[in-house]
Amino acid sequence: MRLELLTVGTELLLGLTIDTNSAEIARVLASIGVEITRRTSVGDDRDAIQDAVGAALDRAGTVLVTGGLGPTRDDITKHAVAELLHMPLEFQEEIWHHLVERFRRLGREPAVTNRSQAEVPRGATALPNRWGTAPGLWLETPRGLVIMLPGVPIEMRNLLTHEVVPRLAPRAGSLVVRSRTVRTSAIPESTLAERLGDIEAAVRPLGLAYLPGLEGVDLRLTSWGAEAAESDARLDAGAAELRRRAGAHVYGEGEETLADIVVGLLRARGLTIGVAESCTGGLLGGRLTDVPGSSEVFRGGIIAYDNSVKVGELEVPAELLRLKGAVSEPVALAMAEGVRRRLSVDVGVGITGIAGPGGGTADKPTGTVCLAVAGLGDSHVRQTIFPGSRPEVRARAVQTALFLVRQRLLATQSP
Ligand code: AMP
Ligand code: MG
Repeated sequence: MRLELLTVGTELLLGLTIDTNSAEIARVLASIGVEITRRTSVGDDRDAIQDAVGAALDRAGTVLVTGGLGPTRDDITKHAVAELLHMPLEFQEEIWHHLVERFRRLGREPAVTNRSQAEVPRGATALPNRWGTAPGLWLETPRGLVIMLPGVPIEMRNLLTHEVVPRLAPRAGSLVVRSRTVRTSAIPESTLAERLGDIEAAVRPLGLAYLPGLEGVDLRLTSWGAEAAESDARLDAGAAELRRRAGAHVYGEGEETLADIVVGLLRARGLTIGVAESCTGGLLGGRLTDVPGSSEVFRGGIIAYDNSVKVGELEVPAELLRLKGAVSEPVALAMAEGVRRRLSVDVGVGITGIAGPGGGTADKPTGTVCLAVAGLGDSHVRQTIFPGSRPEVRARAVQTALFLVRQRLLATQSP
């Protein structure tokens, strides 16, 4: 089936809000075989909305609209569409009742303007919204099918998953578009491409995209226009081939992060970890504690930004700092070993570097970072120069530290 997407909101036209809804809906609907033929955005304007909905119905027969379903004066999508399709609005007691209940649970009273959210175009189906106040709407009309969802991304997402996909899937074709992402780290895009060789031929008819970012290079395989089962089988085989060729640089798939993987590996071995951070100022601790359940393995960290903290809290010898400089492999190592001792953890990580933009020297340019891991077999230390701005250098340093920990965990695993 063909479908057009329409996002409504003057803030989208001004670029003040980024239209993430379109991208998200397109991904979900493509994966169930709906063909998205056009994406349009218009402002909160009656004529513009009516023009866009009418044209989309004429071209594709189905239009999915988000935005402008709220209770305020600028939310006019429902009124504009009802007028266009000659479906007068009717107040529905049941929807109002749910709304009042929802407000009561939150200890509030609905405003008078909220009453408009219980109005439904005659003949339309209201899609219950447990995540907010505006129900979605499903309008089967002689001109085609109109689906309206609220603009708030979390409400849109839930209604899409729970109400729209189950209704659309049976009407969609059996040919779907699906993707799979294999995540790599600590290898530059060009080196990775060399290592993968003529991978495009090996995974055909799947498409392959290299997506470099601060966490590494993601490899995305996409299957176009095949049956769901066949797509999944091709993606399984393609992902396995990518993993085989990219080897240890692959750390996960899909939404998995390197922090998820590291916490999982530590947990499986019953090991604890602590961090000593200078130039990353706690970002590594942040990444680890982003992972639910990290309290089982992450004991804490010491932000040793100033040398006095490196000496006082981490027992880095002052002499070493003087001789080698704060950004040096021996100091990173002493930090990792220091935090391991001080926090009585199995694994200690040390990070010290020059995040920039200033502070670089001829032999230690901006972006130089020393990373150390103590406690998993022999201690390990590495000096690297990361490209990019200050936030980029810091993010890359944290990701590479996680990669080093993972590497040491895998190298010391009993067979
Ligand atoms: P509305 O349903 O138009 O009242 O929008 C409610 C909230 O959702 C506002 O904060 C909008 O900026 C946001 N929003 C609306 N449309 C989109 C969209 N296409 N993508 C992302 N956010 C949106
Ligand atoms: Mg709006």
